[in-house]
Amino acid sequence: MSKIQPTPKRPARKTATGTATARSATAKPAPRKRTAKRRKTLLTPEEIDRLFASLQKTDPEPKSELEYVNPFTLLVAVVLSAQATDAGVNKATRALFAEADTAQKMAALGEDAVREHIKTIGLFRNKAKNVVALSKRLVAETGGDVPRDRDYLETLPGVGRKTANVVLNVAYGEPTIAVDTHIFRVSNRTGLAPGKDPLEVERGLEAVVPDTYRLYAHHWLILHGRYICKARKPACDRCVIRDICKYPDKTA
Ligand code: SF4
Repeated sequence: MSKIQPTPKRPARKTATGTATARSATAKPAPRKRTAKRRKTLLTPEEIDRLFASLQKTDPEPKSELEYVNPFTLLVAVVLSAQATDAGVNKATRALFAEADTAQKMAALGEDAVREHIKTIGLFRNKAKNVVALSKRLVAETGGDVPRDRDYLETLPGVGRKTANVVLNVAYGEPTIAVDTHIFRVSNRTGLAPGKDPLEVERGLEAVVPDTYRLYAHHWLILHGRYICKARKPACDRCVIRDICKYPDKTA
């Protein structure tokens, strides 16, 4: 797994009245959207601190289990990982990234060849289409770079808020929390950040995760959900946050 240095490049986004950069020089700043951070947690601040300290102890510097060599290959791997396991994605991307590790090479490789590489992954037809389309967009709009810009990333084919958050966190070290099925489950079961949908949980986590734990919170919660607080049968007997968790149906 390579360490990636953040690149500050942030291309101007197209707007109805020109690029965002050009517009900002003349227009009045838009009023800031109210993003009230609601503290909707069943845990006390002391319990939240203890929860993350315990997860940190088990894995001080967690890494993504997806294999990638640069922000572009990370972006592609995350797009491919929807409804697929990281191990399954890695198996397919090793050969794919050996052939195409940049947007330019991926666009040139084309949809048929990408489809052939990833045919063992669920939804591979649509994913191949999206990977080639997003590569072409990057080549045309950013010279192939993956911008450190959530709004822009979310405009790419196959890229939603969760994927953009993962890229910003893993490739660029931003303290974003991408709520996937594991984080959603752990946040609700423990009472850390209950919510009825991923966005509500994300907002809840943003409001309660202490700054010191923000960078790795995403990984700790995913890994905890994947290996301990599993969907069907949580391994509560091996859980390091068992005494903090508010789940009423613990297994032991
Ligand atoms: S005690 Fe059980 S339900 Fe609670 S976080 Fe741990 S594994 Fe999940």
